Amino acid sequence: MARDKRVLVLGGTGHSSKLIALISTIPELEIINSLAGRTRQPAIGSTPRRIGGFGGVSGLINYLREQEIDLLIDATHPFASQISGNAAIASSELKIPRLMLVRPPWKKVEGDRWIEAENNEVAVKVLANLGSRIFLSIGRQELASYAHLKHLWFLIRIIDLFPPDSLVPPGKILTERGPFYFEEERSLLQKYEIEAIVSKNSGGDATYAKIVAARELGMPVVMIQRPPLPEGEQVSDVESAVAWIKKMIKLMINS
Ligand code: NAP
Repeated sequence: MARDKRVLVLGGTGHSSKLIALISTIPELEIINSLAGRTRQPAIGSTPRRIGGFGGVSGLINYLREQEIDLLIDATHPFASQISGNAAIASSELKIPRLMLVRPPWKKVEGDRWIEAENNEVAVKVLANLGSRIFLSIGRQELASYAHLKHLWFLIRIIDLFPPDSLVPPGKILTERGPFYFEEERSLLQKYEIEAIVSKNSGGDATYAKIVAARELGMPVVMIQRPPLPEGEQVSDVESAVAWIKKMIKLMINS
């Protein structure tokens, strides 16, 4: 009898957790959830998982071979471009079908005062004219880009605290995990007298409330644009990813 098919899900997002919950009921499928290990208590269920980098493209190729992975789902955050690039190279080398699950970016709507920035370096330049109290909502890893802005005050929201020797901008740190809601976000911006927000264009609902609150308060948002994705098949919702996995299993079983 043929062995079950094995899928590796590169995760670390709400989308990946939802996908894993849905595909865990497919009988012919074994799932491995892969996390980078950035978050101390990741919100994940009981699916088998591995934590930590693979060791670049060659490490990922070795892992995919050793574990006899049949399908690769890249459900990482849209800003996690290194692992997505590695996944593209490794899957093409081993001819393993790969799907990217990418949530759509937020779109500017009427009332939004967005200033689009290509990356953090551009965002830093834009901040020169936007006031002195900034809500920095970009996660933990790129805070150092703002550390030299000693004349500004930052409200910094992250999931886990950074190591003690990290370079961070001056201000107040909040450690909180989303989802966040409109009323609370508006109160937060008002309480700390925030004048502008810096955000990644992450997409999804969990962190969108701050964008809505900024719109209502007429506040500028420096919106950091996504890095380009590698070539390959992609879907924007979990249901389509489930359908793709089922289709691929059928094809593999019948071939
Ligand atoms: P990245 O810059 O694309 O990746 C850096 C390195 O981390 C990769 O080369 C890989 O190491 C390792 N890595 C990343 N994701 C991995 C995964 N799912 N499983 C195993 N190794 C992984 O990624 P990042 O931006 O640091 O993000 C790391 C994780 O946090 C991802 O899982 C992502 O989905 C999640 N996340 C990122 C953001 C963000 O804004 N960047 C936001 C929310 C969640 P090796 O080269 O050694 O294999």
